[in-house]
Amino acid sequence: MSGVDVAVVGSGVVGLGAALAAHRRGLRVVVLERGSEPSGASIRNFGHLCFTPQHGAARELALASREIWLGLARDAGVWLRESGTLVAARHDDELEVLAELAALRGDDEVVLLDANDAAARIPLAPGTAVGGAFLPRDLQANPRQALGAIAGYLEREGVEFRRRTAVGRVGSGRVETSRGPIDAGEIVVAVNHDLDQLFPDLAEERGIVRCALDMLRVDAGLAAPLDAPVLTGWSLVRYGAFAATEAARRLRERLHAERPDLAALDLNQMYTQLPDGSLIVGDTHFRGATVAPFQSEAAFEALLAEAGSFFGVPHPRVIERWQGVYASGPEEFLIERPEPGVNLAAATTGIGMTCGLGLAEHVVGRALEPPEPAPAPALVPADR
Ligand SMILES: Cc1cc2nc3c(=O)[nH]c(=O)nc-3n(C[C@H](O)[C@H](O)[C@H](O)COP(=O)(O)OP(=O)(O)OC[C@H]3O[C@@H](n4cnc5c(N)ncnc54)[C@H](O)[C@@H]3O)c2cc1C
Repeated sequence: MSGVDVAVVGSGVVGLGAALAAHRRGLRVVVLERGSEPSGASIRNFGHLCFTPQHGAARELALASREIWLGLARDAGVWLRESGTLVAARHDDELEVLAELAALRGDDEVVLLDANDAAARIPLAPGTAVGGAFLPRDLQANPRQALGAIAGYLEREGVEFRRRTAVGRVGSGRVETSRGPIDAGEIVVAVNHDLDQLFPDLAEERGIVRCALDMLRVDAGLAAPLDAPVLTGWSLVRYGAFAATEAARRLRERLHAERPDLAALDLNQMYTQLPDGSLIVGDTHFRGATVAPFQSEAAFEALLAEAGSFFGVPHPRVIERWQGVYASGPEEFLIERPEPGVNLAAATTGIGMTCGLGLAEHVVGRALEPPEPAPAPALVPADR
């Protein structure tokens, strides 16, 4: 290969988003991926595209992503459900968080549900709902289908993929791979938590570590299908827009006081249903530069017990267990240009499916489209 306009390292959702953004600008793109099949965070997640709960910069990137996801459903055959999100409130303080966000955003973004509506829309254990909310703008993808569909579309469009090709070094204009060097005008590094393998000093300086999550797929035998991804009180103290409410502080105190065992797992109790009817159950969070590969059965037992009491089904049957890993840092994203032509892009909390395509578009746009020249200073007559 003589050289390309853009080389993308990593073919998770962020790398594929970068390849799409560069391809749409008419550029010659190669994607370099060390694996033969997708196996990173982008296929290990819930597929919950939770745009509404995002806040600040994440909200901007989430809304940009939403348009790209909808376009990919149309052009690339990505399975997408315009499901919205359902939030189940089982305590009044959870309803207070939802009411605060509803007052801020309006009911085209947050529709409050009373106890009867919530019970009718979410197959909860009888008598447990005090209310809830429906977030109509959110979407659901199937992570096990989405990556293959996007990569297949890009390949049909002429983007070159080099799999089983590990990148060892990245510098201005050149990527060194396990199959030889590649010259590229711009390089986008989208390797998630493995950023510390390619840019160890930068990753350390920015406080980037790994976050490991326990996940399950179960046959829960629910009374009714889930019409949308379902969030709980534990999600309301986690996602930016909920967590920024005044009521979330009180909710966090109550949850941590009542259930220190679940707080110690850093639980985000949430559920999505795959098209085959099975339920994705999660999740826990453990952070460190290296995360232990040994998953504690106690964490899985806690996830199953909470799912059982949430849905009122005593023994969900486990189909699969896995560990997911993503980059974690003090900010929600890492966007850097350490050398000319070298661009680093990572979601550094668990919102990369929601924001990753918008993040990639932003990073590629910034790299390829030089900033507008500063407007000429307004001429002010010297003597007025
Ligand atoms: C269990 C779990 C649940 C989650 N749930 C959600 C959710 O519901 N909604 C949401 O918005 N987000 C969720 N997230 C977060 C989201 O999945 C991630 O933020 C996102 O997938 C990260 O995408 P990525 O492309 O950066 O990383 P990845 O998908 O991990 O892709 C990185 C790729 O880079 C490749 N690579 C690494 N190093 C090299 C190298 N040196 N050379 C070549 N290739 C390399 C890897 O093989 C991999 O394919 C979840 C994450 C996990 C783990």
